Amino acid sequence: MASRVCLVHYHEVGLKGKNRSHFEHILMDSIKAALAAFSVSCVTRISGHILVTFSVVGEAERAFSTLLRIPGVARVSLAFHTNRGPGEYCRAAVTALREAEPFESFKVQAKRSNTDYELTSLELNAQVGEVLCEAFPEKKVLMHNPDVIVHVLVVQGSVYVYARSERGVGGLPVGSAGKVVTLLSSGIDSPVATWMIARRGAVCVPVHFSGRPQTADTSEYLCQDIIRAFAPAIQVGRLYVVPFGDCQREISLACPSALRVIMYRRIMYAVAERIARIEGAKAIVTGESLGQVASQTLENIMAVNEVVDIPVFRPLIGSDKQEIIARAQEIGTYDISCETAPDCCTLFMPRRPETHAKLDDVHAAWELFDHEAMIDQLVDAVEYIDFESGSYRAPRMLRERHEELAPRA
Ligand code: ATP
Ligand code: MG
Repeated sequence: MASRVCLVHYHEVGLKGKNRSHFEHILMDSIKAALAAFSVSCVTRISGHILVTFSVVGEAERAFSTLLRIPGVARVSLAFHTNRGPGEYCRAAVTALREAEPFESFKVQAKRSNTDYELTSLELNAQVGEVLCEAFPEKKVLMHNPDVIVHVLVVQGSVYVYARSERGVGGLPVGSAGKVVTLLSSGIDSPVATWMIARRGAVCVPVHFSGRPQTADTSEYLCQDIIRAFAPAIQVGRLYVVPFGDCQREISLACPSALRVIMYRRIMYAVAERIARIEGAKAIVTGESLGQVASQTLENIMAVNEVVDIPVFRPLIGSDKQEIIARAQEIGTYDISCETAPDCCTLFMPRRPETHAKLDDVHAAWELFDHEAMIDQLVDAVEYIDFESGSYRAPRMLRERHEELAPRA
């Protein structure tokens, strides 16, 4: 009898030449981690695909949507796995096509990865096609642009038959591109930026600046919810939280009000860079989008960027708000981000922030408080919360300081 399996297709990974096997293994690890709650019996490579089998009936159907969200997954097909008996795979083809209702036209597309099979692909097309035409006499066979394609894939002793196939998020498997620190607020943009860079294969280590103790810790919980929304397809292993409220107060008392936001940001970037060094992360990622708000003009971005030496990536720099919102909805972070939470962004905000900061003024303001001591103090005060993750490796240095850093529950 046919069993249900998922076939994972992975374009970009397939393109990576000699690294291919390395990437495939990372993708298989991602799949195993993402499907930890399912009764997966095996994840293995077969002829350019990754085959995922399950030991409980109905699990393949349920795991399908999770698989689609895993970075590196270009497409997922919900297939029937049968033996090479024509009766078996033709029956599976009828069931697969019935599941695709409603449709008007279809075609069969067979492929053999073993040439020892007695029928050629064309003969297989004709054989399965004939059975389907009998079972669906009212439907048309169309060679170009049919509504449904019934795929028949012969691999060694097995045949995989599927009609249901959907595009996945694409990209590269998490862990294939090194580590980055992402500046995560509970707003709409930075969760999307984090997701985008994770989709390019980076392990993301978010850092959140909280207004605590000057504000409540609501934004910290929203950031945790955002990380849970990424899971299980994207697993963030650790969220760093920096209680920033008192320092913001100090800055607001020392600096001209128009330049406060730039000072806050410079401190944030500098602390993020320090955490990146501890973590072995090679870049900082933000959710900035050109011109979206006062702090995101070219002048201001430059005035903030100069405090760090590692690259700062802004995956949303050219995106419009509507596009960012659509993506946030798709990845499930939008509703969380819409909950209002006072964070360091709403704290001690000037009435008129500078939109085109002059570097001389910025440098003068930077000297009005002991920024080095502040950065040290914030790095010492950093807290963290750990989450289940297959791809994240904690830095030893911090693990040794675990007690001292007293992570909050
Ligand atoms: P977002 O929607 O991500 O909050 P935003 O439109 O509110 O962004 P800004 O407030 O200018 O824009 O923030 C720009 C970027 O700075 C954010 O996308 C984020 O990467 C970082 N950032 C802002 N606030 C915080 C915070 N409290 N903690 C960590 N990073 C932050
Ligand atoms: Mg914000």
